Amino acid sequence: MASTGTLIYLDEPETVQTREYEVPSPEPGALVTEVERANVCGSELHIWRGHHPEVKEGVLGHEVLCRVSELGEGVETDYADEPIEEGDLIAPVYYITCQKCSSCLVGDFHLCQNAYRYWAKSPEEPPHFHGTFATHYYVHPDQYFYKVPEEVDPGIAAGANCALSQVMFGLDETGIEYGDTVVIQGAGGLGLNAIAVATERGAETIIIEGVDGRIQRAEEFGVDHTIDFREYDTPEARAERVHELTDGVGADVGVEVAGVPEAFAEGIHLLRDGGRYLEMGNVNPGHSADFDPGTLTRKAIDITAVVRYDPWYLRKALDFLADNSEKYPYADLIDAEFALTDVEEALAKSDSRDVTRATLLPNR
Ligand SMILES: [Zn+2]
Ligand SMILES: [Zn+2]
Repeated sequence: MASTGTLIYLDEPETVQTREYEVPSPEPGALVTEVERANVCGSELHIWRGHHPEVKEGVLGHEVLCRVSELGEGVETDYADEPIEEGDLIAPVYYITCQKCSSCLVGDFHLCQNAYRYWAKSPEEPPHFHGTFATHYYVHPDQYFYKVPEEVDPGIAAGANCALSQVMFGLDETGIEYGDTVVIQGAGGLGLNAIAVATERGAETIIIEGVDGRIQRAEEFGVDHTIDFREYDTPEARAERVHELTDGVGADVGVEVAGVPEAFAEGIHLLRDGGRYLEMGNVNPGHSADFDPGTLTRKAIDITAVVRYDPWYLRKALDFLADNSEKYPYADLIDAEFALTDVEEALAKSDSRDVTRATLLPNR
């Protein structure tokens, strides 16, 4: 029996429309789901403002917790071979892993050239429900998804497919070892997850941040040291403070999640000789900062940059939440719930930082 669903479509920057479409039936290998919770993420705001390099329009939303409503032919398990049935809660990876493009062929699944195949599509094109700001969401045959473990609070599971998976992948690519000191530039969603993951790996953590609410959250996440950049207000002062906290040698690992070019330029000065640096926060091309390559060479710093993650990291992220969601105040990160009809308010309040993480509840 055909029913209709509602979705939120970005037509041009900062202009959204509500549209209704018939809920499709899944093709073989696909799933049709109902959206339980969809978060407003920082990258949604980039897209909304028109700053994303590839996604300029389309159905909004990517962080999601879904309930399976119809399984396509042949779908019996998730991507970890867990049996899947109608009614199960799942978390899908937000992009496609085609397994056929030049990146997939060399095993760089996180760099799949077709990752955003369905992102910028018009909702007119079937199966319509390309984004998660909607009552329904279509999971394609090339799209990894995992059943959400029962121990994970649904309220926090929606964010696993973005920030936490990203941080776990980035830190694995960089290499983080027991006893390392990790300096994290920025205590937004990525930064808080970096504190939790680095701590669980046995590292000591330092956060650099200048906003009271964010410093407080970082401390609630158990960061070992805070450098307030209103107090340490030059790159030299911050580098000196990191050296003081690390017996004069500098941090082993740096993580750039502030999202400003100057933070990247500063990062290498915070590290020890031979340190490792993870660049993950600057995602908009076309912005630059003064960078000192001579210092990079003299210190022999290894820089790793990542975008997206290998799709199975979503499963690691869900497991991480199952083990650690009591230990870290993940539940406090979601501080505002909105109906789908209030999506513009949710976007505006997220943009102005009146709320930390807004969640849409489209089916309530
Ligand atoms: Zn591919
Ligand atoms: Zn996100």
